[in-house]
Amino acid sequence: MKRVVLFGPPGVGKGTQGGRLAAALGVPAISTGDLFRAHVKNGTDLGRRLSALIAAGDYVPDSITNTMLAERLAEPDAGGGFLLDGYPRTADQVAELDRLLARSGESLDAVLLLAASDEVLEERLLKRAAAEGRSDDTLEVIRHRLGLYHAETEPLVALYDAADLVLRVDGVGTPDEVQDRLIAVIAEREPSALS
Ligand code: ADP
Repeated sequence: MKRVVLFGPPGVGKGTQGGRLAAALGVPAISTGDLFRAHVKNGTDLGRRLSALIAAGDYVPDSITNTMLAERLAEPDAGGGFLLDGYPRTADQVAELDRLLARSGESLDAVLLLAASDEVLEERLLKRAAAEGRSDDTLEVIRHRLGLYHAETEPLVALYDAADLVLRVDGVGTPDEVQDRLIAVIAEREPSALS
């Protein structure tokens, strides 16, 4: 299991779990949110153009996101696999990822879907706001991001369900508990994945 998408709403723990799982699977964790924030922090052209949109919790246009992702996947460390966090989020991105993989005769191995209620997510994101000060972690923007997830991104799960790729995991609990659940569903699907 080397080509994996970690799917789920904002605040569900994709960053935390993604780092741990990627290490366990021996692949790089690639977060489009982190890549965009690095652009903003470094003051690149792209970062300057996108900072207001990201602070408002809106999605970056697919053409920009898809180009950035394609460049990242072309780097040597992603040649043997990857764990994606925060991509794909739109139908166009799902199609682009399939296309990119098909070009090298590859396909996704699994989509790990982390779940938690909006109440839990809001509470966690507000806590993170206090700790990290991310520009998009205000209550108003958090609610907007959750709404976008439900409207634009959550329906994409059906596409991956149709390909029998989705492994569902309860995201409520301590990071260790959630990690144990992820490891358990992966081991069940592919016993040799973590050895
Ligand atoms: P979260 O999932 O907690 O909202 P991320 O760190 O994954 O946060 O993403 C932060 C922001 O970066 C998003 O709100 C959006 O503006 C932008 N972004 C990240 N990934 C994508 C993507 N795949 N498509 C469009 N915009 C994205």
